[in-house]
Amino acid sequence: DIVYLDGHYIPAGEARISPFDRGFLFGDSVYEVIPYFRGTGFRLREHIARLEHSLRAVRIRSGRDWYAILDRLVELNGGGNLSVYLQVTRGDSGSRSHAYDASLEPTVFACCAPVRDFASVAAKDVKGLAAIVTADLRWHRCDIKSTCLLPNILVLQQARDHQADEALLLRDGLVTEGTSCNIFLVRQGVVYTPKRSSEILGGITRELVLELADENGIQYQEADIDYDALMAGDEVWITSSTRGVLPVTRIDGQPVGDGEKGPLWARMFELLTRYQRRLMTGE
Ligand code: PMP
Repeated sequence: DIVYLDGHYIPAGEARISPFDRGFLFGDSVYEVIPYFRGTGFRLREHIARLEHSLRAVRIRSGRDWYAILDRLVELNGGGNLSVYLQVTRGDSGSRSHAYDASLEPTVFACCAPVRDFASVAAKDVKGLAAIVTADLRWHRCDIKSTCLLPNILVLQQARDHQADEALLLRDGLVTEGTSCNIFLVRQGVVYTPKRSSEILGGITRELVLELADENGIQYQEADIDYDALMAGDEVWITSSTRGVLPVTRIDGQPVGDGEKGPLWARMFELLTRYQRRLMTGE
């Protein structure tokens, strides 16, 4: 495995970061996870735009050629289907002090992990997920993809303790998103998802699903979803870059709708899969 660290492509085992790096000490850093399918970044431009948004929001310097860095890294790792992790920290302060010097050189780290191509699985083989609903303990700038993931980690583990796959988060009575995914609800043929705000991450797949709904005459609304609406839904889906769109068929131990994967999910899964295949293979 080759990783990228501050201008160098090196074996993962040789990468070294200072314990005084602010990413390590404070989680003073942002990140992206970008799927590459058949060696090509999927919605890469959108991911880089979101990275720039995160960097600007926390005032970490940018100015790198992200495309060149990532494409080279993917090439060195043999291409194919990879999930690329890219982290940018504010840099190494040399001591532990909350205040920072604006002239710090950011630390840039990137690595790859194999990922299953969500479009390579047939709809009938996709398993419905179980989720729990729990309090959203995060801060109020969830639009920034920050590496401070302690709340996400704790509630995902809580879900695992209950034999569930995901935790859906509730803030002020409203469902925001999952620990690493956006959420969609279907009721009487209409798709609902919370509107973009600083309480959720603007998911790249969320945006794509809405685009596909638009282009294919599927009715949707960006609207608040409370707990009762969630539990009364005919279908619930989650979306993320590496998972695509997946059906949630149990929430808090109760079946969603009839407890089976829904017809609108199957339709959206096909649309997303077809879009991805067309883009990746030029078919
Ligand atoms: N919300 C959160 C909190 C996430 O971590 C992710 C994963 N990046 C998402 C939503 C989904 O975003 P995307 O579709 O861009 O992967």
